[in-house]
Amino acid sequence: MIPVFEPDFGEDEIAAVVAALRRGEISGSFGKDISEFEEAFASFCGCKYGVATTSGTTALHLAVAVLDLPPGSEVLMSASTNVATGLGAYHNGMIPIGVDSERQTWNLDIDLIEALITPKTKAIIPVHLFGHPVDMERLCAIADKHGLKVIEDCAEAHGARVRGRVVGGFGDMGCFSFYANKIITTGEGGMVVTNDRALAERLRLLRNLAFTQPRFRHELPGFNFRMTAYQAAMGVVQTKRIEKIVEAKRAMAERYRRLLGQIPGIELPREMDWAYHVYWMYAVIVRPEFGVARDELAAALKERGIETRTFFHPINTQPCFSKVLDARSVPTPVADDLWKTGLYLPSSHTLSEERISMVATAIYEIGRQVNS
Ligand SMILES: *Cc1c(COP(=O)(O)O)cnc(C)c1O
Repeated sequence: MIPVFEPDFGEDEIAAVVAALRRGEISGSFGKDISEFEEAFASFCGCKYGVATTSGTTALHLAVAVLDLPPGSEVLMSASTNVATGLGAYHNGMIPIGVDSERQTWNLDIDLIEALITPKTKAIIPVHLFGHPVDMERLCAIADKHGLKVIEDCAEAHGARVRGRVVGGFGDMGCFSFYANKIITTGEGGMVVTNDRALAERLRLLRNLAFTQPRFRHELPGFNFRMTAYQAAMGVVQTKRIEKIVEAKRAMAERYRRLLGQIPGIELPREMDWAYHVYWMYAVIVRPEFGVARDELAAALKERGIETRTFFHPINTQPCFSKVLDARSVPTPVADDLWKTGLYLPSSHTLSEERISMVATAIYEIGRQVNS
């Protein structure tokens, strides 16, 4: 089986985790590795502060919480995203509103944002889908004009760049995931990065049950979203490897592009001229000209031992949000189409040239069988 992703860590990560354990640094309350990881990763993102969390989902949850928005506020976000983006708003009593995708990068269509703003709209969460960055300069200009807070969902885009500047520090906060299949990993884990000192302090406070003085008397309802010190130890090692991993991802994408580029009906990911794509996953769209529908292609690939996965289900029609979304219906035809026709291929940065060729050949042959 060629899986969509294989986690990659080696002796250096193992040694760092073991060393943290030997020092007794097991919790999320003490240990040198947590601040070391936070500083190293934030600095990689061009940010002053990093606050490590238990996951990308809790990073988003925490980031929305510290904005302290009125209950029932609307939070715009990319419609095509992992449900976690929506949950970050939903579990804070906010209403997630998906903004439809655009055809070129599959990211949220910036031209649609202004028409969706209402007096209740308070924040926007752009998602750098599959590793292609959103044009944050354009997006932040609109957010500033309307007084919206901006949280970047960078869970799939460690190291992606907009006109040379790395994602994470464009808005008020950037949220990352270090889940097993992300660009770098601590197994489970996440981080919020920011340049705003007051926000960083509030993130730290709410991450740790909002302890204030006197101890055990709490003014604010906090969370326990603390990352363990031994996970942070792994994160320190992984952070040093990001650039190499991203180079390998880009080489993987270039191979796929060369091999799949000639197949009719297979639409490949694009990289805008202002963007640096990190190809978290190599995703394609299966157009009618291919002759085989997306689900049939996925099934045929599976038969040949090749794992794939579909695009994300759009936020505005997620059953889990139906209670809060009933009041406002925002159609997302492009995101709906991506959900039905998109597929991502095995995308490990360790994937061999030979395996990439096997995947491409399989797609070519499955298409040719019907078309001949
Ligand atoms: C993976 C992912 C998350 C959630 O991260 P976890 O660490 O799995 O909780 C959030 N947003 C996007 C876009 C993701 O891909």
